[in-house]
Amino acid sequence: MRVTLGGPALDGFPTPEPAASVRLLLPGPDGLVVPTWNGNEFLLPDGTRPAIRTFTPRRFDPDAPSLELDIVLHGSGAASTWAEHATPGDEVAVSGPGRGYRIPSDAGSFLLLGDETAIPAICQLLDHLPDLPITVHVEIAVPEARLDLHREVDEHWHVLTEGAPPGDSLVAAAMEAPVDGDTRIWAAGEAAAMQRIRKHLFADRGLPRSAATIRGYWKRAVH
Ligand SMILES: Cc1cc2nc3c(=O)[nH]c(=O)nc-3n(C[C@H](O)[C@H](O)[C@H](O)COP(=O)(O)OP(=O)(O)OC[C@H]3O[C@@H](n4cnc5c(N)ncnc54)[C@H](O)[C@@H]3O)c2cc1C
Repeated sequence: MRVTLGGPALDGFPTPEPAASVRLLLPGPDGLVVPTWNGNEFLLPDGTRPAIRTFTPRRFDPDAPSLELDIVLHGSGAASTWAEHATPGDEVAVSGPGRGYRIPSDAGSFLLLGDETAIPAICQLLDHLPDLPITVHVEIAVPEARLDLHREVDEHWHVLTEGAPPGDSLVAAAMEAPVDGDTRIWAAGEAAAMQRIRKHLFADRGLPRSAATIRGYWKRAVH
């Protein structure tokens, strides 16, 4: 679901780097209440924790000003539910942007891996990466989630097998991918799957940490 935030409060919002992040403060039952920082965490006046979630600032238009977020609707969760039901004029607060991906100048090729939550960041990276060989692996839950990446790259779309843990096809892709000394890797998706990719690249293949940026974007609930 694409959500476009607007309003004069976005005046002066810095243009985000590719694959940066913003934090979204979602309204609670009493509407949007801005929490205070107690030195350790943000708390609402009643001592409870606010619903704050992290998203990729997909596109910022300083003239409007407006900020686009692409939010995965996964069926539960404060942000997913909010995005599903939000209507024009609803209020939300945003902070950021946080740091994005600094494109390495020593790269000879790029390998990008991500699930649906990483599609906005991958699209931004494809807007900014230099003219070098790029391989992209995206894991999606349903084939209809496939979209146009707007750049000629070696792209692979994997529909997650029913019952497989999220990110499983990305782990398999990372294991099979040819990686040279100057391949630079960016990966984001479910935290446990990203941990498996880290282990494979750094422990099994012995790549230096500087060769890869791997981010857990969400955590699968453990029942
Ligand atoms: C730097 C960064 C950038 C991100 N950018 C984006 C972005 O552009 N778009 C985007 O959609 N997400 C993005 N995410 C991921 C997003 O923050 C999480 O998916 C977040 O948990 C969603 O909040 P929620 O309130 O919907 O669900 P939560 O309340 O956090 O979780 C509720 C339940 O839903 C499950 N869940 C959470 N996310 C998913 C999912 N994607 N698929 C299936 N189950 C899920 C959880 O395991 C939990 O059981 C980003 C995360 C980071 C750290």
